[in-house]
Amino acid sequence: MLRCEAPVFRPRTLDEAFAMRAAMPDATVLAGGTDVMVYLEGGVLKPTRIIDLWGCPGMRELRFTTGGQVYGAGLTCTDVLRAMHSHPLLRDAAATVGATQIQNRATLGGNICNSSPAGDTLPVWLALRAEFELGCVRGFRRVPASGFWRGYKKIDMQPDELLVAIRVPALAGHMHFRKVGTRMAQSISKVVFAGRYSVGKEACLAFGAVGPTPMRCTAAEAALVSGASINEVVSLVEQEVLPIDDIRSTALYRRKVAGRIVRRWLDNLPRA
Ligand SMILES: Cc1cc2nc3c(=O)[nH]c(=O)nc-3n(C[C@H](O)[C@H](O)[C@H](O)COP(=O)(O)OP(=O)(O)OC[C@H]3O[C@@H](n4cnc5c(N)ncnc54)[C@H](O)[C@@H]3O)c2cc1C
Repeated sequence: MLRCEAPVFRPRTLDEAFAMRAAMPDATVLAGGTDVMVYLEGGVLKPTRIIDLWGCPGMRELRFTTGGQVYGAGLTCTDVLRAMHSHPLLRDAAATVGATQIQNRATLGGNICNSSPAGDTLPVWLALRAEFELGCVRGFRRVPASGFWRGYKKIDMQPDELLVAIRVPALAGHMHFRKVGTRMAQSISKVVFAGRYSVGKEACLAFGAVGPTPMRCTAAEAALVSGASINEVVSLVEQEVLPIDDIRSTALYRRKVAGRIVRRWLDNLPRA
């Protein structure tokens, strides 16, 4: 049985959570624990103190604003799937995370802050031009998803900050999510994709698991918007992704699959 002797602190308000984080910047933040527990089990994490955000009020709501939606960082994948108005791209991603038991605990904030390049929601946030709202005792600030992941497992977050919410503007266009893994459930992505395309106006082709951070293929996006052929767009995607060989797949496979995902999607879209 997994044992951890570190004292656990459970904030009863968001302000209390910020105060705890400020007083204990060395503490391990735990939300659903589906990543943290694996690190504990593997001995890679030896926390001295734990701030347990599960159940912290104010972090598990989906709100609507005039400009879009605001997802609490503590919403789980199951919450997203149960909410009537959650974004279809996010629903598709949430449905592929682990299996039901994991989805019941896995939070959006945990997926974002764990910052695995294979995290299934991460390309969705890029495609939706999301902003992450970080809070601490000093106040709040917003970071665009496009600038949040700075390198492998490096994020734009200070030791006293917490991710509080994710802001998603209302956007039009064709959208598509696709995860390629070994199985339908309990499978980490070999390639994961989220795309958004307003014909002739704007495109976002965002991938995970093909580089040290989730990434956009900006040259392919520009080509798509300017009316380049699907072959040209796919070729650019295959050049822009930065996959590696690892235990889950080869770089070559990932490169080809990234192109194939985009080709299949665009083949079925009106282009004019
Ligand atoms: C069996 C299994 C299958 C899985 N399958 C998938 C999968 O298919 N796809 C996928 O993407 N992931 C998968 N995961 C990984 C994991 O479930 C997700 O990354 C999940 O979203 C993490 O959320 P959590 O709430 O459990 O995070 P936690 O484990 O609680 O935390 C993860 C990290 O984020 C930090 N953190 C959490 N919340 C905040 C916050 N509000 N502010 C600041 N830091 C915070 C923690 O300190 C920690 O570093 C799987 C895990 C397991 C064990």
